[in-house]
Amino acid sequence: MDLTFQNRTALVTGAGRGIGKAIAETLAAGGVNVICVSKSEKNCEAVAAGIRDRGGMASARVVDVSDGKAVAEAAAELLAEHETIDILVNNAGITRDGLMLRMKDEDWHDVINTNLSSCFYWIKGVVRPMTRKRWGRVVNISSVVGLMGNPGQLNYCAAKAGMLGLTKSLAKELASRSVTCNAVAPGFIRTDMTSELDEEVSREITSRVPLKRLGEPEDIARMTAYLCSEEAGYITGQVFTVDGGLLM
Ligand code: NAP
Repeated sequence: MDLTFQNRTALVTGAGRGIGKAIAETLAAGGVNVICVSKSEKNCEAVAAGIRDRGGMASARVVDVSDGKAVAEAAAELLAEHETIDILVNNAGITRDGLMLRMKDEDWHDVINTNLSSCFYWIKGVVRPMTRKRWGRVVNISSVVGLMGNPGQLNYCAAKAGMLGLTKSLAKELASRSVTCNAVAPGFIRTDMTSELDEEVSREITSRVPLKRLGEPEDIARMTAYLCSEEAGYITGQVFTVDGGLLM
């Protein structure tokens, strides 16, 4: 079954690379007009240009998602340009790993701001018109480690677990306006974020995954696109694990 999108506009954060790029490209292939947000101009511009070259609709916008003021300004400008942003995918994220006793305050705050506070900033910035239109989709890209915990990733796991509480609360607040809010919790996906793992760690992780491989960005993009589609209108407040069976 093909997914349906009725003249929708989506904003995807962290669309310059990896999972966000795959989400932007998958939505665009379904006819969605996609605003690609990333930290560097080079990356979001390249993804938007690639989509346009294939006949899709896309534009690029550089925003540091950890900066609440910058997000509020960008959201206001983008809403003036696009009328409504129907779909918000909060995907931008970073890691600053280290054991708790050695973790610097800066690494805690950077990870919480980029992964979690950013969701709050964008939701505040773009959700009101969705509620007026009585249609909207918010998808937050969390992580299985937000459900499991992971040594050396206290900051990241706290942010990713926080996204789940935010998702469920927002789902309850917006359900009466037919705006859904769900989370996707990826396992280990082959992107720049995991390319730093040495070969032995990567082999060890793969051995724990029942499907015996790392995931691809497209595995996450397909689940996300479904949750953004017209067909997913009766699904809200849920967390969808896409991890090759790691968390069972
Ligand atoms: P990635 O390849 O490192 O890409 C991260 C993207 O986020 C980039 O486009 C980057 O922008 C953008 N970004 C980072 N900080 C930003 C900021 N302050 N403002 C704006 N954009 C910012 O990451 P990924 O692996 O695709 O991960 C995407 C999401 O999935 C993250 O939230 C991550 O936590 C989550 N996730 C990933 C995995 C995995 O195994 N890869 C597993 C579970 C969850 P630039 O391109 O401009 O640098």
